[in-house]
Amino acid sequence: MKDFFEDLGKRLSETAEAVTAKAGDAIEIQKLKAQIRELARGNAEDLMELGQSIYDRFENGEELDEASKGLCEAIASRKESIEEYENKIEGLKGACECTRCGKMVAKDMAFCPYCGSPVTEEEDIFEADDLAQEAREEAEEAEEIVAEAAEAAVEAVTEAAEEAVDAVEESVKEETEE
Ligand SMILES: [Zn+2]
Repeated sequence: MKDFFEDLGKRLSETAEAVTAKAGDAIEIQKLKAQIRELARGNAEDLMELGQSIYDRFENGEELDEASKGLCEAIASRKESIEEYENKIEGLKGACECTRCGKMVAKDMAFCPYCGSPVTEEEDIFEADDLAQEAREEAEEAEEIVAEAAEAAVEAVTEAAEEAVDAVEESVKEETEE
């Protein structure tokens, strides 16, 4: 019986050691995987930067090897399509061209997000409103002037007619008195 317990104890401690070792391995694997991820991320960033620097050279009109040139042309073509589709979207959303930088800007924006100049669409509407109001006021003023002139004319004619009537009456009176 004593041997059995001794044996069991030994086996248990061996198992515990194996478990500990396995746990240690798992932790080590996790650490290595994290390191791999970090290195891969660093490479992805550097490759992107490398590609960007080659693309910048392409845009500057530098002579590149055929493979790089082909890739750069494909990128440029995609960029063009992206811009075209973005403009289409802006057009569908109701955008207008910025009067300063010429980029498409949503009509409901107060300022151009590219150059910061005020989006004039709204102001134009207000300006048109102001002009319409001014025109209405001017028309009202003109109408008043016309009405005043008409009134004055009627008054003048009436006065002249009254004077004429008075003159006629007076001459008639003079004639009958004589
Ligand atoms: Zn702008």
